[in-house]
Amino acid sequence: MRETFLPFSKPSIEEWEISEVAKVLRSGWITTGPKNAEFEKAFCAYTGAKYAIPLTSETAVMQVLFRALDLKPGDEVITPSMTWVSLPNIVSLYGAKPVFVDCDRDTLMVTPEAIEAAITPNTKAIVPVHFAGGVLELDRIRAIAEKHGVVLIEDAAHALGAEFKGERIGKHGNVMFSFHPIKNITTGEGGMFATDDAALADRVRSLKFHGLGVDAYDRQTMGRAPQAQVVEPGFKFNMPDMQAVLGVTQLTRVDRMNAERGRLARLYRARLADIPELIPLAQPAYDYKDSYHLFVVRLDIEKVGITRDDFMAELKKRNIGTGLHFRCVHGQKYYREACPVPAGALPNTEWNSERIFSLPFFPGMSDADVDDVIDTCKEILTR
Ligand SMILES: *Cc1c(COP(=O)(O)O)cnc(C)c1O
Repeated sequence: MRETFLPFSKPSIEEWEISEVAKVLRSGWITTGPKNAEFEKAFCAYTGAKYAIPLTSETAVMQVLFRALDLKPGDEVITPSMTWVSLPNIVSLYGAKPVFVDCDRDTLMVTPEAIEAAITPNTKAIVPVHFAGGVLELDRIRAIAEKHGVVLIEDAAHALGAEFKGERIGKHGNVMFSFHPIKNITTGEGGMFATDDAALADRVRSLKFHGLGVDAYDRQTMGRAPQAQVVEPGFKFNMPDMQAVLGVTQLTRVDRMNAERGRLARLYRARLADIPELIPLAQPAYDYKDSYHLFVVRLDIEKVGITRDDFMAELKKRNIGTGLHFRCVHGQKYYREACPVPAGALPNTEWNSERIFSLPFFPGMSDADVDDVIDTCKEILTR
């Protein structure tokens, strides 16, 4: 058994990055300022986005965006149930209804067909998730959104550095990113809204900071003219510079970190080939580049005869940490009552929700760590 605990995730922060944060702390300006401007610029350069606006989390992006889109009671937002709770929660807080759609059994991503079947006259937006590092079939999903005149918002919490048909995620459309510590880059906590819609970008920029007017002065200096006035009531979700500076440093390393994640993923796949009880995700057949955000497996509970939760507990006893991405949203206490889904309507989501967990996976993890995980899984399975 391992002597030390192997966490399922760990942020990668180098000493020079800590020095950059310290410089901001000593600079006399620690809230939103020049480092935010730098982060925006670097993010646009990296993804190809026209506009990129940092906020305190991706959940905050959702909160602001749905105000900007005037989401109202009676409106519907199409979302996978196999996702983190942020989106359904924020939609619910606006009094609108999350409409859960099923995912593909093996990529865990919603299909264009499932999205189109869920569209009604009340549909306000479609918010699919690029899952675990895989990428949605964007061209077909964009065509559906356009055909029905609904807004498409990509949840790219897992997808920084990923590409669809040679185009980086974030370059086009309305795309939300997260910089929570487990994501491909981190600012401690943080999020980004990337868009090519100038009017929407201005609205989000204003709403993230009290709803104060945004003018040329704001854009250049990232401060506000002291004379700025409230043009509509807004939120307070601006990212402090002491965090934005980490975004700048991490962006210079994201390709290297993702490549390292890719190497670990290939190692896992090779080692898992002789463990049929642990089923990795399938990779989509269309042209895309993976961001290797998570390494998700499904436990063949029928064959093994123990639950996923027990399997995770057995791993933990042996010093191996795991994650759970995700427990289906429609099965959780609030949503079972507030947005009941007919039994059997989301079979792939429910099948995965019972069997899924995430193996330790982060840049800096060694081949020996991967071997420990695999050997420990084998040991539990042959007990
Ligand atoms: C992490 C995550 C979020 C939320 O991001 P925060 O920055 O923590 O608000 C949203 N959606 C998905 C799919 C995520 O994994």
